[in-house]
Amino acid sequence: MTLTTPHTDGLQVEGVALATLAERFGTPCYVYSRAALTAAHAAYRDALAAHGMRGRSLICYAVKANSNLAILDLFARLGAGFDIVSGGELDRVIKAGGRADKVVFSGVGKSRQEMQKALKAGIRCFNVESASELGQLNEEAGRLGLIAPISLRVNPDVDAKTHPYIATGLKSAKFGIDIEQAFDLYLRAAAMPHLAVKGIDCHIGSQLLDPAPAAEAVGKVLALTDRLAAAGLPLEHIDIGGGIGIQYQADEPAPAVADYLAPLLAQFADRREHLILEPGRSLVGNAGLLLTRVMVLKPGTDKNFAVVDAAMNDLMRPALYDAWHDIVPVAAAGKVGPGDTALPWEIVGPVCESGDFLGHQRKLALHEGDLLAILSAGAYGMAMASNYNSRPRAAEVMIDGGEAHLIRRRETVGELYALEACLP
Ligand SMILES: *Cc1c(COP(=O)(O)O)cnc(C)c1O
Repeated sequence: MTLTTPHTDGLQVEGVALATLAERFGTPCYVYSRAALTAAHAAYRDALAAHGMRGRSLICYAVKANSNLAILDLFARLGAGFDIVSGGELDRVIKAGGRADKVVFSGVGKSRQEMQKALKAGIRCFNVESASELGQLNEEAGRLGLIAPISLRVNPDVDAKTHPYIATGLKSAKFGIDIEQAFDLYLRAAAMPHLAVKGIDCHIGSQLLDPAPAAEAVGKVLALTDRLAAAGLPLEHIDIGGGIGIQYQADEPAPAVADYLAPLLAQFADRREHLILEPGRSLVGNAGLLLTRVMVLKPGTDKNFAVVDAAMNDLMRPALYDAWHDIVPVAAAGKVGPGDTALPWEIVGPVCESGDFLGHQRKLALHEGDLLAILSAGAYGMAMASNYNSRPRAAEVMIDGGEAHLIRRRETVGELYALEACLP
């Protein structure tokens, strides 16, 4: 939300004018700020330090939120670990300079190849999500002559009170192991020769604004941890997942990271286990925006459509979750002409789907050619982008101390069909 600053030349990020970036790199274009990414990481580090947890915790950035190598490299340099959900993400982490021994591997469906790759790399922990996965992992580790470090991802059956597509902690979700059954499964895991039981984890959902459900889940996880210790199975770490929500709208009651974490960290005061966190959105979401240009204005009797050059293939969240992103003009406020009146616009992309929208009923004074910034687009933006309608994916730029660096060039159309072949 606070990524841009107003200036007489229009909106800036870290002192660089967005209009200049649009000229240099074209639109649509994702723009990230190194300072904002660093500050988001510092908020976690400081919250942990305030609870005396700095030396016994690891922040594992959830790669799926934004997997650009430059972002992974930045977090690796800050000492972060990584939460991955595929073998591909492990490759990215290693390529970016991340350490395998700081990687935790989540996900309900890990292939045997992915298990082997992660075992050979020597990751810190597999977050196992089913009895069947335990058996498969034990087999693969045995085949390689290795021991697989594991935790069980338990499903604590709490309602995270978020969008149903991103709620993961209810009994009805595909994620995790029913916490009622986890005790017995731990005993089975401890008896498997090629597994080492290391920890426990849970992740109840995403874009969580109220810490109460997560605090409740942590309470259940700690109770199970104590029960296991009493049965002779002490755990080394407790992974409380990610999910902290960010502010997408000015009046949204998004918590500060420190405030959200306080009731969770308080439960660790008298404990000795290491704590792992898996934040994604809250590290990158408000450190990025999507820069787009108005192509066509279609004022109408029913609705006014502003067709911009970014679309649902670039930023899927509005179409997928009916998510809100603030959309602001890049030009300085004073540059609005005297005859300009703000109208409620449907901000839509050129993709051939009625679900292709970026914002509904946004009151703006618009002209064709104007630049718009779609805010809070750093998480689940580029990471979910597709080539639907044969649209090359956008460029990505990172601002670092007044310098703009291209961290992913725009795709070319030729690259989109380079892997295809016609029949002979
Ligand atoms: C997606 C995911 C995260 C990150 O969630 P955010 O809401 O982006 O913080 C963490 N852990 C697991 C297992 C996930 O699937």
